[in-house]
Amino acid sequence: MDQFWVGLWEREKEFMHSVKPEFRHGTGVVGVAKLSAQFYCEYKVENEFVLGEVPTAAKDTGTELHDELMPTEEITPEDFARLVGAKGPNYAVLGLWGAVGGLRLVGMPDHMIWSEGRPLWLVELKTTKGDPIPLWNDQENQARIYGLLLDCMGFDCSKLRLAVVRLRSGALDDGEKRDWAAKVSGALMDGTVEELEEAHQGSMKIHILRHERDLAEAAVEAKRGYWTGEREPTSSRSIGKCRACEYNQVCVKSLAKP
Ligand code: SF4
Repeated sequence: MDQFWVGLWEREKEFMHSVKPEFRHGTGVVGVAKLSAQFYCEYKVENEFVLGEVPTAAKDTGTELHDELMPTEEITPEDFARLVGAKGPNYAVLGLWGAVGGLRLVGMPDHMIWSEGRPLWLVELKTTKGDPIPLWNDQENQARIYGLLLDCMGFDCSKLRLAVVRLRSGALDDGEKRDWAAKVSGALMDGTVEELEEAHQGSMKIHILRHERDLAEAAVEAKRGYWTGEREPTSSRSIGKCRACEYNQVCVKSLAKP
């Protein structure tokens, strides 16, 4: 097996062994999705810890759709290395990890395209009941931080680009769901994203970003103080966000209480 992979797995073990409950609420590792959610509202992240996660129909639909559009099958690390090391495009995701700004971060992207050991595309799927055109800060930063972790893990990210796909829930029929991942991947690789968006006008927008390490590091820096205990959580200043939030009836910071 290539020395890169042997070294990577060794460093991953060391990273996991170094975990101790040193961050807010006794957390040992911070999920990238959680850190990114701070860009929506930090108090919502705090509420999730203190009051527990609140199930919503939108979350359930989103999870179901993710499973339908991007089903995965577990393979061994050796098979993973062989698959992504071959001339691509090859599709495979792996758990990402790394220490950034004093935080231990972990996360699992939705979809990735590889060739000859290099990540070419990292894809995040976000479902919405509303307009798929806007790209929200939390969604952009989640993809950016995944890119940063790939970089920190030692992958050659010189050709890496990030795609945040915003899809209106209920927009795809069963046939479209079956080949969705291949279609989106093909459009990204061939540069035919606009054509694909046109075919799904009003129901899908693919936001493409360059991998920029400094922007991702700045995003972590902006949110790390909450985890290290250097400061208390901030809260939303948008009544619209509070209205849409599942904690709005119980949150002490809610701007949308009756
Ligand atoms: S109700 Fe508003 S302030 Fe409270 S967690 Fe939700 S978005 Fe944040």
